[in-house]
Amino acid sequence: MNDTTAHESSTSPPAATAQERTLLRRMRSSCATQPIYKWTLPAFAGRLPDGRTYNTCPSAGICKNLCYARSGTFRFSNVMRAHESNLQYVLDEPEAWESEMIEELKNDRFHKPNVLTHVRVHDSGDYFSEDYLDAWLRIMRKTPEVVFYSYTKEVELFEKRVRPKPPANFRWRYSYGGLQDELIEPGHLHVDVFPDEETLAEAGYTSQAPSDLRGAYGPETLGIPANNIAHLKKRQGARTFRALQRAANAEKKDRRAKRSGPAARRPKSD
Ligand code: SF4
Repeated sequence: MNDTTAHESSTSPPAATAQERTLLRRMRSSCATQPIYKWTLPAFAGRLPDGRTYNTCPSAGICKNLCYARSGTFRFSNVMRAHESNLQYVLDEPEAWESEMIEELKNDRFHKPNVLTHVRVHDSGDYFSEDYLDAWLRIMRKTPEVVFYSYTKEVELFEKRVRPKPPANFRWRYSYGGLQDELIEPGHLHVDVFPDEETLAEAGYTSQAPSDLRGAYGPETLGIPANNIAHLKKRQGARTFRALQRAANAEKKDRRAKRSGPAARRPKSD
């Protein structure tokens, strides 16, 4: 993942048959000379039609309550079906999914003269397991002519599995509002969601609004102005995702300390 306002409004068609299906869809914000395709999972937690429960964003923090991909068109039944069918394919037939993804990326539509194709991995959802991340790393290495990028909250997993030897065609960026915010260090490319463009500029951040590719090529400090969804804007208030997560962490710590009682907080005597 990922972050709320980095998601595009989704109007995916109903789930297709295996013959008709394409795994990647073109992002509406992309242009002819720099097309962007996206791979989408359902956001956060839910239940598949066969009854299995899932969580595609295990490190989601406060972002789950402000998640654009959990409201609006993303909740339309045909859109949810398409995203859940993507997830089911990954879970049930991981090898077939991986081969099909590589095959699809070798298709001519991704390889036009003088055109660099980008794939945003996760319009919503995140790298929910090490095996799933490893599958993507293999896909990236096998399709070096395509550039991949992601926003993610899986900081620990990425520092362990990706940072030491990343595929040359992969760019990633940590996004605030997750359970692993405290692992984001100075120098790490990151993105925070701001209430609006003004607060973003005041903080010295660069806005992602002109192009989603700033997620891939933008500076260390990238900001996203909150989407114009009234109830989410109201819930976010005047703070950034980073500030909200920090406050939530502090509250949690405080609650824990209160539950432990004064004895546990009393300094030990020798
Ligand atoms: S990590 Fe998941 S819950 Fe959080 S904003 Fe991204 S898609 Fe939504």
